[in-house]
Amino acid sequence: MLTALRQSDSVKVIARECERNAAPFQCPTCRREVTLRKGNIKVHHFAHKPPVTCSRGRGESEQHLQVKLAIFDALGRESNVADLEIERDFGASVADVYARISGTPVAIEIQRSTLSANEINARTRNYHQLGIYVLWIALPEPALTTSKYSPSAWEKWCHATYFGRVYYWEQGQVLKVVHFDPYVIEVPHSTWYEDGSEQSAGGYDRRSKRWRKPRFGVPALISASFRGSSRQAWTGGTVVVPECSIYVDRQAKWWA
Ligand SMILES: [Zn+2]
Repeated sequence: MLTALRQSDSVKVIARECERNAAPFQCPTCRREVTLRKGNIKVHHFAHKPPVTCSRGRGESEQHLQVKLAIFDALGRESNVADLEIERDFGASVADVYARISGTPVAIEIQRSTLSANEINARTRNYHQLGIYVLWIALPEPALTTSKYSPSAWEKWCHATYFGRVYYWEQGQVLKVVHFDPYVIEVPHSTWYEDGSEQSAGGYDRRSKRWRKPRFGVPALISASFRGSSRQAWTGGTVVVPECSIYVDRQAKWWA
């Protein structure tokens, strides 16, 4: 976690902007003391003391913290962005970044490996009930540049929720926008003789269950390329999308 409460005045502070002599600091969720970590290599942050029983900050990798800060800093330079806050507390969840963008309230959630599908759905429903539009962003994925890619369950959930788009952080507030086309496998035609008669098989295409073909749209700017949209509940295969309010990019479909 990048923020904590300074115990002396209960002001929320950002780790990179405070010194150790301002300690003690408290976790805003569990109110227990947290340690300020200001190393030379890693992003400055706060950490619970063991044993850790609180869920705030759980599963946040170094890259997760870097991306959160980069988005926060980039949005801070935009004139149409107001009420910008990092790690904004909404009770049932803490948004990585929150802002009003051209008047639209937006919660930005960055991928972390430890969130279950149930937790992702719960957070998404919570924002919907609060009238806040949610933007889920994936961490950079080098394997996307290949012609076939195997999306995770979470990426498939994003793809379904955002009408065939998944957002990957690139830099600052710039996101790669990816659509997954089916990956078609050719099953070759073959013939053989069995008991004196000709048998045949194959000669058709099938869709791979595992693989998809990534198709890139135009990169999107969080402050400029998106709009709030209502999304009805939907279920398909193993993917369950709750009724929700999504922040989705405005470019037209770039796939067939
Ligand atoms: Zn805590």
